[in-house]
Amino acid sequence: MTGLSDSFQRPINYLRISVTDRCNLRCVYCMPPEGIAHISHYDILSYEEIYTLVKAAAELGINKVRLTGGEPLVRAGLPELVQMLAGIETIDDISLTTNGILLAQHAAELKEAGLQRVNVSLDTLKPDRFKQITRCGNLGDTLKGIEVAGTVGLTPVKINVVVMAGVNDDELPDFAAKTVGDGWHVRFIEHMPVNGDDSKSISLVSVSDMRKRIESLGKLEPWKVDVGNGPARYFRLPGAKGTIGFITPVTEHFCYQCNRLRLTADGKLRLCLLNEDEIDLREPLRSGASVEELKNLIEKATAKKPQGHRLSEGNRHRGRPFSQVGG
Ligand code: SAM
Repeated sequence: MTGLSDSFQRPINYLRISVTDRCNLRCVYCMPPEGIAHISHYDILSYEEIYTLVKAAAELGINKVRLTGGEPLVRAGLPELVQMLAGIETIDDISLTTNGILLAQHAAELKEAGLQRVNVSLDTLKPDRFKQITRCGNLGDTLKGIEVAGTVGLTPVKINVVVMAGVNDDELPDFAAKTVGDGWHVRFIEHMPVNGDDSKSISLVSVSDMRKRIESLGKLEPWKVDVGNGPARYFRLPGAKGTIGFITPVTEHFCYQCNRLRLTADGKLRLCLLNEDEIDLREPLRSGASVEELKNLIEKATAKKPQGHRLSEGNRHRGRPFSQVGG
């Protein structure tokens, strides 16, 4: 096998980069109301450092990167980083995961810099509920962000909905209707039991249950999607321009096809979102490691990627919050 692969012969070509642990929302399933202790600015990778690490990873076979966080758009000058990464010849896919609050302001500049597409996290279409779930956000800002992202061509814009029993599962048909009425691409994600504030009390909604509620609008037809190749399974409602995806990290985990690594905001290479193993790249980088040495570290780390996260066996995530490791 050419390119980067792990010890289970999984090809690894995708790097998710947490550019900051800061966030402008406080989603109930992600962090406590007061937020989390922040990584110091000194410890956060500069854009030049991220660039150097991505370049090394690209030489090994990474060709796809996603910028995430925290909220990536709260970090100043993000288009600058996008432009730097777009200049790496073998990186052919650059995307962003955002809560959309600041997206309308930055979408055009990001597109111009070389960003290809965005995923927007949105768990409700009701303004009051949006305030409750995010503890501070304004739904109108995210909706505007989605609209502007589509207009400037950051497409397909995918809407990620974390489905929580008794919190927002009554809105499944409303989100599904948006795939017909507005051509939205909506992905329903199982809630993962993580270290967030209210996460322990949130219950999972099974995909069969989700499908039943959505099929009140029509029969879901399996659909193949070209862009992204992520872990979602896609469907369409009759007459819809948009798609409906299901991402099931808990009940039907897809670790066997995992192709990703994560770079944390403080420069650790993380091998699995839900496993604490991390390899520090920041200190070697700051101590003057050569590109070859960095490549060596990335290769050795990748070989240690665990086979799976075992959430379905009752394993719980206990470590660093998603916002630091690039959820
Ligand atoms: N701030 C950005 C955003 O909101 O998209 C990027 C970071 S956020 C941590 C990335 C994604 O992780 C969001 O789609 C969020 O809904 C998801 N997420 C956070 N905690 C989760 C959980 N416990 N279960 C499932 N998804 C979760």
